[in-house]
Amino acid sequence: MTLKNWNRREFLWGMSQSALALLVMGRVSGQVVTASKPTEVLVLGAGLSGLYTALLLEAKGLSVRVLEARERVGGRVQTLDDIPGKPEAGGQALSEKYHRLLALAERLQVPTEHSKGVDKELLLYIRGQVVLPQDWAVSTANQLAASERQVLPQKLLSHYLRQHNPLESASAWINPKYADLDIPLDKYLLAQGASNEALRLIDFDLGTHFNSIKSTSALWALRNDQHDQTRSKQSMHIQNGNSRLPEKMAASLKSPVQLNKIVESIHSQATGVKVHCSDGSKFDADYVVVTLPFSVLRQVEITPPLPKIQAQAVQELPYTAVTQIHFTVRHPFWETDGYPPRMWTDSRLESVFPIRDEQGRVQSLVCWANGSNAKQLDAMSADALAKYVTSELKRIRPGTEGNIDIVRVVSWGRARSLCSGCLFPLCPRTNPTLSRQNG
Ligand SMILES: Cc1cc2nc3c(=O)[nH]c(=O)nc-3n(C[C@H](O)[C@H](O)[C@H](O)COP(=O)(O)OP(=O)(O)OC[C@H]3O[C@@H](n4cnc5c(N)ncnc54)[C@H](O)[C@@H]3O)c2cc1C
Repeated sequence: MTLKNWNRREFLWGMSQSALALLVMGRVSGQVVTASKPTEVLVLGAGLSGLYTALLLEAKGLSVRVLEARERVGGRVQTLDDIPGKPEAGGQALSEKYHRLLALAERLQVPTEHSKGVDKELLLYIRGQVVLPQDWAVSTANQLAASERQVLPQKLLSHYLRQHNPLESASAWINPKYADLDIPLDKYLLAQGASNEALRLIDFDLGTHFNSIKSTSALWALRNDQHDQTRSKQSMHIQNGNSRLPEKMAASLKSPVQLNKIVESIHSQATGVKVHCSDGSKFDADYVVVTLPFSVLRQVEITPPLPKIQAQAVQELPYTAVTQIHFTVRHPFWETDGYPPRMWTDSRLESVFPIRDEQGRVQSLVCWANGSNAKQLDAMSADALAKYVTSELKRIRPGTEGNIDIVRVVSWGRARSLCSGCLFPLCPRTNPTLSRQNG
């Protein structure tokens, strides 16, 4: 196909092959592309979606420019290379079922490998008490109903979703016959017999899919449960850090990604599309493909406005708040107190995970909170957060006192436009006094 002659229909068809949720804007329908030069496309955002789109379009002979707001590519894939153990701030694991991504990694010669997965052993900290999982059923911290007492707190949600999940597959959730399950998750769980204590604990273990059991649809939770049951149990990652894949994708493009270009407005007109960035730069193209998260797109001026249903999705689609606090370890306190380093708590800090190297040695720790707990941490000033986290961990695990240092805070919910940890005051790069504050 002569790509300079791509019309709108062919362009949209070509884009649909990427199977990504993208917004494509450009010439008014029916407009004939008369220019003798190849069709020019702007791709907004250099996360996996934007980079993959750009690679596909370049392979078709189009002239593609990628605009990225940050000073790095990868978006919500970000390996924290400067923290021991190289924890992943964003996308953690791939699955053997990510066929398209794995094929791309192979083509670009980016090696992948199987992951060891998170530690199975953990310490519970509930209602102010330290409990080992084997003691949970008889612990005085366990205030679940008699029928629930044997179920570990982190298994309660799947316990209730799985016993009567009516969906025959994850994709069945959009079938209108299940519309009556589109109710708040807490109401659904209560109807399934969950106690109030079970609901309280479940709200500390919602993962990255939900903000709270009150604001999540039971239908979506049941969909995720089905998805979890069928997905590959063997997780994978990119060797040496997941960021290596978007970096290689970007390096494989003919035109380098233009970094530090914060898109502020997109104007579609009969002759093409104009994009304005916050630094005053302007870009023209025949089409623009928008891969910005909706939480960001809400703040971008789009003319003419999106069709009503799209505009509503952009405005209303919820994103889960995730906040991570990364620590280096001065002394392995778990060797002193004898408990596993991984913790599951009913505190605002939620969970703590060890980051291990290939040999299984703990390199650093990450405290990971989601949803409303993440939002409450995000609302604190840098100083208040450092004090709060240090004193909470000391309360939960006295051995942490003086033995860990906060080295980075990553909030995916707080920074609305750029999201990344380096924007945050707790980052040692922006606050070199931090290690002294916590020392
Ligand atoms: C904590 C966390 C854990 C996750 N774990 C997993 C997992 O284990 N497995 C999995 O499959 N997925 C996981 N995900 C999801 C996965 O990371 C994302 O689905 C994926 O990276 C999204 O890619 P994207 O290109 O669509 O969006 P993004 O990666 O968000 O890319 C959008 C890009 O647009 C840029 N941008 C933003 N605003 C502007 C602007 N105004 N102008 C120009 N550019 C802009 C951003 O900087 C970014 O680079 C996780 C996500 C998070 C946050």
